[in-house]
Amino acid sequence: MNKTYLLAPGPTPVPEKVNLEMAAPMIHHRTPQFSKIFGEAAEDAKTLFQTKQDVMILASTGTGGMEACITNLFSPGDKVLVINGGKFGERWGKISETYGLEPIWINVEWGQAVKAADVKAELDKNPDIRGVLVQASETSTTVSHPIEEISKLTRQREDLLLVVDGITAVGVYPLPMDDWGIDALITGSQKALQLPPGLALVALSDKAWKQAEKAKCPHFYFDLRKERKNLADKTTAYTPAVSLVIGLREVLKNLKEEGMDNVHKRHNRLARATRAAVQALGMTLVAPDAPADSATGMFVPEGVDGAKLVKTLRDEFGVTLAGGQDQWKGKVVRIAHLGYVDTFDTVVAIAALEMALK
Ligand code: PLP
Repeated sequence: MNKTYLLAPGPTPVPEKVNLEMAAPMIHHRTPQFSKIFGEAAEDAKTLFQTKQDVMILASTGTGGMEACITNLFSPGDKVLVINGGKFGERWGKISETYGLEPIWINVEWGQAVKAADVKAELDKNPDIRGVLVQASETSTTVSHPIEEISKLTRQREDLLLVVDGITAVGVYPLPMDDWGIDALITGSQKALQLPPGLALVALSDKAWKQAEKAKCPHFYFDLRKERKNLADKTTAYTPAVSLVIGLREVLKNLKEEGMDNVHKRHNRLARATRAAVQALGMTLVAPDAPADSATGMFVPEGVDGAKLVKTLRDEFGVTLAGGQDQWKGKVVRIAHLGYVDTFDTVVAIAALEMALK
């Protein structure tokens, strides 16, 4: 038997029906046939992002979406506040440095969420900060940062943007972009969108589009203003990832049918079940105070090698989970409940974990 279960926080499983849609014969992208598909996908993406704004669909991984936001919204020398509570927060800082921005770091202990009061203190101290760069769900630590509270600080100022990496949060739990005043929101195809890697979706607020007219960071491929113009004609500046867009349209149609509230509830139910099960197995959650509903991280018991545990689960039980990164390498295991993962997958993963620990 070689049945396998993929419960890593990306890539996540792809439903069979979506795979079949994507296996359709290739079509040319400058055709009415593709434009219809692209237009429908972009329209339904607004429901996913809880926004009236355009959602741009880029042929890229999620990091490209992050980079597009930096280069399209800021200029060299701009101060940005980086919430660094894990690998992806750190990435915000690294991209900013690459383009000559001046990151001001808020270093958050791994497993903790940033405190909005700390964000406020930095913003008060540095009134010339132009952007707050944060993860909604910091996948490396399975923490959910308080985006709504932070948005209350950023929406008060015209020259300050809230840029949210929602790569493992969009389609997992509510991030109402327009209601909260999120200025840039990003996701990637290989997480809650139940698709293979290769698409980044990005939406900007009116405030961010205004900023985009002035931003001076160099960029060519990721030109969001150009993509927006093309989107109006239901096309893209360069060759789109045709098959992935076909898959995206199918997934978004299905999510819309399920209803975003139900999608969020589904993730929450699996997340709560996983957290309870892991604790019943005697393990400690890595993010007990602010857990994200996308993945659950746990410290492995004393004397257990986490990396070996992940390998055993994969090789002997067919269950792929994720280990810990950096300081948590060998000490932490992460189980995702993200995208096309259901109750039975979760039960299998927990049972396999229990057996592997024996
Ligand atoms: N941000 C978060 C929160 C992520 O979870 C990931 C991927 O795991 C990324 C960014 C990077 O995305 P990608 O690997 O698609 O570039």
